[in-house]
Amino acid sequence: TEQLENTEISRDYLYQLDLENALKYSISHEIPLHKMIKDKKMDTLKKYLNVLTEYFPLRYGNIFLETTRDIIKKRNNISGEEFSQIIKSMEEEMSPVYSGPSKWIECKGSKERYRGYPCGLWTMFHMLTVNFAILNKNAEHEPRKILETMHGYIENFFGCADCAQHFVQMAAKNKMFDITNANDSILWLWSAHNEVNARLSGDDTEDPKHKKIPYPAAEHCPNCRYENGTWNEENVLVYLKTKYSYTGINYYDSV
Ligand code: FAD
Repeated sequence: TEQLENTEISRDYLYQLDLENALKYSISHEIPLHKMIKDKKMDTLKKYLNVLTEYFPLRYGNIFLETTRDIIKKRNNISGEEFSQIIKSMEEEMSPVYSGPSKWIECKGSKERYRGYPCGLWTMFHMLTVNFAILNKNAEHEPRKILETMHGYIENFFGCADCAQHFVQMAAKNKMFDITNANDSILWLWSAHNEVNARLSGDDTEDPKHKKIPYPAAEHCPNCRYENGTWNEENVLVYLKTKYSYTGINYYDSV
C-alpha cells in the first residue's frame, strides 16, 4: 500500500481552470499590452472574440464574452488600456465570470518559471479545434476557422515573439492553409505541437518534471501507435477528441 501511495499516477486530463486562466491572461494581460489595436490587429481581435464566444466553455455561461465581442465589433480601433477597462468593468458587472481561483492545475510548473500561460494557450487551442469539429460535423465550410483565428492571435498578440515567428513559419511549411476539414485541423495542430515539443526537448525552458515527449504518451494511449512505432492517426484523433471535448473537462471542485 505504501508503495502505491508514493507512486504518482501519471494522467492526461483537461482542466477548466487551465482553460479559464489562459483566457483570462490573454484578455486581461496580453491584449492590453498593445498600445493601439487597429487594422489587421483589430480584425484579428474581432475574430478571436467571436471564436471564444462561440466555442469557449465558460462554466457560468458566455454572456461575458458575447457582450465583449459585441462592444468590440462596433469599433474600428481601441487602445489596450481601454480594452482592459472594458474587460474589468464587464467582470465586475457579471461576476462571477470565472469558476475558480487563478491557479494552474495541469499547467502548473514544478517551478514558477515553467509551464503556465504558454501551456494554457496550447490547451485552449486544442480544445477549440476539437469542439469546433464536434459541433460542425457536417459543415465543410470554414474548416480552418479555429486554426486561422488562433494563427492570427499568435502572430499579432502572443507575447513570446520568437514562438510566434516559429509558429507562423511552421504554419506555412506544414501547409496549414491547405487543410480542408475540421478533423484534419485537429490533427494538424497535434502534429505541429509535437514538432515544437521535439524542437524544445532538452531546452532550458523544459520543466524537468514534465519532459517534452511525442504526445500522447504510450501509457495514456496504447493504441495511438502501430507496432512499428508510427502513429495511428485514426486512434490519435479519437484520443484527442475524447481528452479535449467539453465532456472531458475536469472541474476544480473535483480535482
Ligand atoms: P506544452 O507544450 O505547453 O503543452 C501543454 C499540454 O498540451 C501538455 O501538458 C499536454 O497535455 C498537451 N500536449 C502536448 N503535446 C501535445 C500535442 N502534440 N497535441 C495535443 N496536446 C498536446 N517555447 C519556446 O521556447 N520556443 C518556441 O518556439 C515556442 N513556440 C511556441 C508556440 C506556441 C503557439 C505556443 C502556444 C507556445 C510555444 N512555446 C515555445 C512554449 C512551449 O511550446 C511550451 O508551451 C512551454 O515550454 C511549456 O511547456 P509544457 O511542458 O507546459 O507543455
